[in-house]
Amino acid sequence: MIREIPVTRIQTAVETLLTEAAYRLPADYLAALEASAPAEPSPVGRQVIDLLLENSAYAQAEQIPTCQDTGMAMLFLEVGQDVHFTGGDVNAAIQDGVRAAYAGLRKSVVGDPIQRINTGDNTPGLIHYEIVPGDRVTLTALQKGFGAELMSRLQMFPPSVGVEGVVRFVVETIELAGPNACPPVIVGVGLGGSFDTVAHLAKKALLRPIGSTHPTPHLAALEADLLAAINRTGIGPQGLGGRVTALAVHIEAGATHIGALPVAVNLNCSAPRRASIEI
Ligand code: SF4
Repeated sequence: MIREIPVTRIQTAVETLLTEAAYRLPADYLAALEASAPAEPSPVGRQVIDLLLENSAYAQAEQIPTCQDTGMAMLFLEVGQDVHFTGGDVNAAIQDGVRAAYAGLRKSVVGDPIQRINTGDNTPGLIHYEIVPGDRVTLTALQKGFGAELMSRLQMFPPSVGVEGVVRFVVETIELAGPNACPPVIVGVGLGGSFDTVAHLAKKALLRPIGSTHPTPHLAALEADLLAAINRTGIGPQGLGGRVTALAVHIEAGATHIGALPVAVNLNCSAPRRASIEI
């Protein structure tokens, strides 16, 4: 049975999610940040964590952006195969939602990467669709700051680098980022696939709630090992030294070619704005 969903519903949801995400950080992130403070031996590091929590509470109370960089809008739609969008072009509706949400937020998007003219309304948002069973749409909005995006990396390794090579690359990415990704970071790691899909896996890993672990035991163990290794780098909150450099490492993995071990690391910062709704 086909379920009809008017595109105006998607447009409104995009606007609402992005507007609220700007000032309300996810509860799982705030809980993890608060829980990290006792484990931070550096007084300056603890002070930074306190300031981040205070900033978040203030932004939520006053309904002002958590960070001046309100980023680029990224929309992830899991669309049930029994859904039929009605009343217009769903892509245009999503962009209308982005435009409306950013009316009062900083516009940070240029239309051409060489000519660099601001589009003036933060469009286009970047849209990702996935077809799933059922008649529902799950919409997740990510308001992605580019300090952390700039520090992200991808490498097409041969399989001979092994898990040690993966750990080395991920930790090296964090060390190269230093303070520039605005730590404590959330680390999305994509493993496998191809050049294009491994980056998407790393991005999708950022959508998982903090506190969740990978359902596959050896990947869950690798997440824990990576988090421990990253938190031994000494970079600390906002790069001022300390233990709490990352709050979570999330891995998403996929099948790949016998000749490759693609690895992508996508970082999210201390303003990890994300919100979801099921329609
Ligand atoms: S990387 Fe994140 S915390 Fe840092 S300036 Fe950009 S949005 Fe703000």
